[in-house]
Amino acid sequence: MAFERQFGVIFTNPKLPVLDYSTLDDNIGIGSLVEVPLGSKVVVGIVWSEGDTKFDHSRLKKIIGTVNKIKLEPDFIDFLKKTHAYTLSPIQSFLKMAVQNLKFHKDQKMPIAYSLNSSNYSQITKRQKELISYFKEQPQRIAQYKQIKKDLGVSSSVVRSLENKGVLSKVTENKYKQEKIFNEPITLSSQQRQAVAKIREKYVKNEFQSWLLFGVTGSGKTEVYLNLASERIEKGEQVLILLPEISLTVDFKQRIMKRYGALAGEWHSQLSLNERRKVFKNVVSGHLKLLIGARSALFLPFKNLKLIIVDEEHDSSYKQEEAPIYNARDLAVLRASTLKSRIILSSATPSIETWHNCRLGKYHKVDLPKRFGEVYEPRVTLIDMNVEETPKNSWISVPIIDQIKISLEKKEQILIFLNRRGYAPIAFCTACRISLKCKNCSTKLVYHKTKNCYLCHICGYKVSEKTKCVKCKSDENFIPIGPGVERIRDEISRLFPDALSQIFSSDSFSKGEKHLEDMDKIKSGEINIIIGTQLVAKGYNFPHLKLVAVIDADMGLNAGDHRVMEKSYQVIKQVIGRAGRYASDGRALIQTWMPRHPVLQALLKDHGEIFLNTELEQRIEANVPPHGKFISLILSGRKESTLIDFGKELKNQFYSLKLQDFEIFGPAVAPISRIKNKTRVRLLIKSNKMTKISQIEVRDWLKNITVPNNIYFSVDIDPYNFY
Ligand SMILES: [Zn+2]
Ligand SMILES: [Zn+2]
Repeated sequence: MAFERQFGVIFTNPKLPVLDYSTLDDNIGIGSLVEVPLGSKVVVGIVWSEGDTKFDHSRLKKIIGTVNKIKLEPDFIDFLKKTHAYTLSPIQSFLKMAVQNLKFHKDQKMPIAYSLNSSNYSQITKRQKELISYFKEQPQRIAQYKQIKKDLGVSSSVVRSLENKGVLSKVTENKYKQEKIFNEPITLSSQQRQAVAKIREKYVKNEFQSWLLFGVTGSGKTEVYLNLASERIEKGEQVLILLPEISLTVDFKQRIMKRYGALAGEWHSQLSLNERRKVFKNVVSGHLKLLIGARSALFLPFKNLKLIIVDEEHDSSYKQEEAPIYNARDLAVLRASTLKSRIILSSATPSIETWHNCRLGKYHKVDLPKRFGEVYEPRVTLIDMNVEETPKNSWISVPIIDQIKISLEKKEQILIFLNRRGYAPIAFCTACRISLKCKNCSTKLVYHKTKNCYLCHICGYKVSEKTKCVKCKSDENFIPIGPGVERIRDEISRLFPDALSQIFSSDSFSKGEKHLEDMDKIKSGEINIIIGTQLVAKGYNFPHLKLVAVIDADMGLNAGDHRVMEKSYQVIKQVIGRAGRYASDGRALIQTWMPRHPVLQALLKDHGEIFLNTELEQRIEANVPPHGKFISLILSGRKESTLIDFGKELKNQFYSLKLQDFEIFGPAVAPISRIKNKTRVRLLIKSNKMTKISQIEVRDWLKNITVPNNIYFSVDIDPYNFY
């Protein structure tokens, strides 16, 4: 006879507490995904703890049952708890990312497919015969019913009649149930072999290890980590590869799918619900051995995950800026530590944090050195805008125009980089000179000529191109000030009317099929001039690209935070790294008003490691992260005074903790003081040492803050943005 037990069940809604339920089912335990009654509804929750014995069993509601027999592993629950402790965001919001809206309880049917069993049959109709020859042409003689109907137009009765004769039989297919990798092994260069060997040598079963795989663009880092991934997969283990901008890295996906076939899957926000559900199940069951995913893939409950790879680990898109705020690169390291497995961070321009950890000996480092004749890097020239002239109404200097001309004659591809979407960042009323501002945010509207509108890049608010001035009601034109990629394209079309150009930005770049077409045009060299935002820096491969022109290298250097140098260096280095990967005559021209600036000098002299070391030392000296820590507290709400008052109260509470080595700044109105109609106020906690003990004290305090109902409070650990 089964005994009744009771458990605490957690939900994906942070507002719901852990609630107790009872069950007689022996298979239910901590980690089980279950359905339970809640009010008048049935909801999915996760068995989180033993029940609170104070409650009377008989009055508890019963767990309805498990969902697809899914049970989260203890290491995953441990990871969620540590993630919560680290980010201070509710555990439920992370759980939600894993099981959100998957609606397992309304399990969808697998597509119906049939396979051809035998060729022994008698007395068949013409239609049936057609169907049999159709099956003979299919791979493995299997076809989905939906496809058969589409191709042959046969009714289900024809199929069923053959099924009754035993000619066809139904298969429930799971495409991730494949046993082996079907690829021919790839020959590695001697540097790649050495890098693989170095990481492999240090392998210890069930030991947590972090690696930095450091090598310039084109040095073949991917082959190194795929090699190590294959090793794990062949042992039946699972591997996760995180990429920035996954929905767009078509190249990479094709490469992976070809090599790993059905063993590989992908995970990102653009997948259909059905597809996500399939991937989820196969990740949990362990059938899916390799997952390439965006940052949220980290929150999938893998059965047997043994290797995590974070490609382009420096990329800021790993940081999720909306609640729950987290950095997937850092959490990936945490995940590997709970799994006692390895993690490989790969980059040509590693983050200062990762560099710091290598220097401290916390991370191992493996270099992929460049060798003459194998990896090419472009020749860099700085264009000093203090001495160069640009034609009137132009943003492209004469030396760049000359180089483009030469490149076009040689049929080389050209990339012009300006990290600014749209046509112009500001527009002024010709009559009264005020600029167009967002209705909901304290930002200026950006003119998008191709979309015929003025757009807020923060909240998406837009007004038509034909808008009247809010102040003087004039409907005369607004004057656009400054360049965006669309304006640069206009200039290029004027200067080189015969050249084919294309904008490469999140506005212009379509997704799915059309995207592949656009990409093909670029990769085949049909497009002569690409004009791109920082999207081009994210791991794309342009085989025909020889010349890169950076229009405004100083733009990023004007921000005020401690990562300014690092971010500018990374983005420009990644962009110019696109040029001449396959030939020795790649060139990069960089327009700047500050040619002596250390970032530009490091780019000019190709002093990557020196730059990282100097930058790290300067940060340590200035007492900013990775030395010590920053924690931002962001308050938002209707009234500024209420926010400031609450901010002051927080500050007083903080002082009463009497912590040494800590400072607190603010409350101050945020640089972008209003977003989506909410006023914003910030505080910054800075620790000079951040010892474990004080860290716990700060965290305990932050966790227990009581926030008034009219204020939205969020905590950003290791902030990337300070606006
Ligand atoms: Zn006006
Ligand atoms: Zn806005």
